[in-house]
Amino acid sequence: MAEYKMLIDGELVGAASGETFATHNPATGEKIADVPKADRSDAERAIAAARRAFDEGPWPRKSGKERADTLRAIAQLIADNSAELSEIESRDGGGTIRKAMLADIPGAQSAFEWFAQMAETQPDRIDLEGSPFPASNNYVLFEPLGVCTGIIPWNFPFIMASWKIAPALAAGNTSVLKPASFTSLSALRLAELIAEADLLPPGVLNVISGPGGTVGEELAANPMVDKTAFTGSTEVGRRIMQLASGTVKPVTLELGGKSANIVLDDADLDQAAGGVLWGTFMHGGQVCESGTRALVQRGIYDEFVNLLAERAAAINLGDQLDMNTDLGPLIDRSQVETVERYVALGREEVGEPIVGGAHPEDLAAGLDPNAFYRPTIFAGVDNQARIAQEEIFGPVLCVIPFDTDDEAIAIANDSIYGLAGGVQSGNLERAESMASRMRTGTVWINDYHLIDPKRPFGGYKQSGIGRELGTQGYDIYRQAKHVHVNPETSGRDNHFHYSLLSGNI
Ligand code: NAD
Repeated sequence: MAEYKMLIDGELVGAASGETFATHNPATGEKIADVPKADRSDAERAIAAARRAFDEGPWPRKSGKERADTLRAIAQLIADNSAELSEIESRDGGGTIRKAMLADIPGAQSAFEWFAQMAETQPDRIDLEGSPFPASNNYVLFEPLGVCTGIIPWNFPFIMASWKIAPALAAGNTSVLKPASFTSLSALRLAELIAEADLLPPGVLNVISGPGGTVGEELAANPMVDKTAFTGSTEVGRRIMQLASGTVKPVTLELGGKSANIVLDDADLDQAAGGVLWGTFMHGGQVCESGTRALVQRGIYDEFVNLLAERAAAINLGDQLDMNTDLGPLIDRSQVETVERYVALGREEVGEPIVGGAHPEDLAAGLDPNAFYRPTIFAGVDNQARIAQEEIFGPVLCVIPFDTDDEAIAIANDSIYGLAGGVQSGNLERAESMASRMRTGTVWINDYHLIDPKRPFGGYKQSGIGRELGTQGYDIYRQAKHVHVNPETSGRDNHFHYSLLSGNI
């Protein structure tokens, strides 16, 4: 069994207490590895190392080009180890090996490449012209923030790790990352690969595994930390804001969602059905921006709902490590129970689902049926129903009928969340007009789930604060310093403000 260590101050170490916890393959319950169980003292050690590396080490003082070269070397390391990393990610988190190989690992690699480009091309000084004050030169320096912590969820562990580490390091910060307890392995393996390749000075990157309630809280509250970036539930996001407020540190929050995927009556129904099913059931709906509310126009409603049910029933559940599997297990028994509770609620609120609503019965031997849940669709749902308002984070789709475009927009925006949305239509002008009225951070037209490091990602409303990725996702890891230079180095009258004070104008 592989042994996993944390990375603190350039060393691969266990928890100071010597404690570990087990991580399992969710499809079978088989134990995969023991992982160090950090506590607050380990978090403090990692933060202190990151602080020293920022205050005294070479990393923040390197040029953008030098940092870019290191980030590209990390991207190459990911590419060179993609087969191993894909298997770790799929086995530990339950996502399919197809997703790991085609999205998770290359997605993380491209995040490092994008932020390398940012480090190389974004200016760290802009000279300003036209000062209102006499004889002064003015410029803005863009400087790293300092120690940046990242706290990430279990649904896309490797990509999420890259979204926190790459921009922080690219901008010259140092970083402490905490993966979710269900899925620590891929981030720990990345840290190990980086340490073995000796790519970073000690303390620049620290990765620690442990519980959110202690280690995570320390990363948000510790006064030596300058910024916290969190991805996870809205509930924990609120707690992170409270903890960070103690030292007024900036936070980036990427939180929950209940996104609407609008199907207009001019859509190609077959393509749109593919878009809705992919938008909802990819990774069993355990995706923050899943389009879990399909808003379908009345004229095509019956035909479209039948198409959805027929195709959802054909989704192939099984061993996530098999290249032929469409859908693996959910992350954990507690997540399955959440789905079961919401499906029971849906039966009360709406009636019997048109497809799904149960565990699969035809899985291969060795797979635990209770770890899996069939794609489930409730039709004729009222947007006020709890199953249409609350994030389920499982394979449950609500289909909601509408008559006019205005009504679709009103329903889509009637949510506490605003992470993403979709419009499926044959008329791009109509679809883009609707996209402009959706209060969400991303809208996909005739597509879904396509996230690229070059484009900003984040939420409106209770889906979060700030944007990751894009140029915006680089800027939030730097701060601007204005420097005003009076080039006259002697002579009292050359000092503009002194004349204001003395009245000698
Ligand atoms: P979670 O909020 O339970 O945990 C996320 C992380 O926070 C984990 O590392 C956890 O250990 C840590 N944590 C828990 N309690 C903490 C505390 N009190 N202080 C500090 N850290 C703490 O979320 P999850 O169950 O891992 O993931 C599912 C949620 O994440 C869903 O709500 C989903 O929508 C959201 N999510 C959002 C995005 C996005 O980009 N908006 C992406 C993925 C997941």
